[in-house]
Amino acid sequence: MIRGFSLAIHGGAGVMPQSRTTPEREAACHAALARVLDAGEAVLARDGDALDAVTAAVCGLEDEPLFNAGRGAVFTREGQHEMDAALMDGRDRRAGAVAGIFGPKNPVLAARAVMECTDHVLMIGEGALAVSRAAGLEFRTAEYFFTQERWDTLQETLKMEEAGTLDDDPARRHGTVGAVARDRHGNLAAATSTGGMTAKLPGRVGDSPVIGAGTFADNATCAVSATGDGEVFLRLSVAHEIDARMRLGGMDLTRAAEAVILADLTAWNGSGGLVAIDRDGTIAAPFNCEGMYRGWSVEGGGRGTAIY
Ligand code: ASP
Repeated sequence: MIRGFSLAIHGGAGVMPQSRTTPEREAACHAALARVLDAGEAVLARDGDALDAVTAAVCGLEDEPLFNAGRGAVFTREGQHEMDAALMDGRDRRAGAVAGIFGPKNPVLAARAVMECTDHVLMIGEGALAVSRAAGLEFRTAEYFFTQERWDTLQETLKMEEAGTLDDDPARRHGTVGAVARDRHGNLAAATSTGGMTAKLPGRVGDSPVIGAGTFADNATCAVSATGDGEVFLRLSVAHEIDARMRLGGMDLTRAAEAVILADLTAWNGSGGLVAIDRDGTIAAPFNCEGMYRGWSVEGGGRGTAIY
């Protein structure tokens, strides 16, 4: 049994296909993931909580314009940003989430404010922003969140829709960021944050902020943060399905996570993946698409980053 900490992060399953990427872009993604691992490890190495580690890691991922969350989030079909985020504490299943928000620099901190400052789990609209303001969170304007690449992707997507040539390219359609951790005390936590799907309808909410779909943590079983076709992840209750197979079906993490992603998600024509961790600190990171930006660190057991 691993007694140190374990951390796994993802920058989404919407990777640039290997045929179209450049060595420079790949190197930038690896470097960004490594910086985020540093931030999460720093918390865990000073005996910090899994919850603080996943919060720090997701803030780092939100600040990276390469990934679809916070700065660099994709646009709705009306050219706006609507962000979703959630986090969950495996110690007591406390959870917080926000959906469709715009303003807080780090949506995951808005989710954490919902968890810590209200009696609620999931908040939207002005109410979520009021809680964020009351918690003293930093806000940013549209210029901060804008990236030319996401804007061009929206224009391209809308043109393809009009021409009836829309394809399934994950790099154009989506992405998300997330983290799961097991701290030295055996506690688990998960956090997820996303801009959602490019050209989504205003008001659309994906799986990321829905506890049990894109985000879940319980010390008894696992912590999960998902990425992929949100509608399918919602219908399959992906994160909770993994918990249920472990808790009720006696499966280990790897088998449960692979069964849900490689078999079920594929059977339902969904694409994506997830990072998950169990109470022993074992990490699973299955995906059924070309790649998933990801990184992992196991105390005394190595660390790395990967895309494909
Ligand atoms: N799951 C996210 C959503 O549906 C998108 C993604 O992870 O690619 O909003």
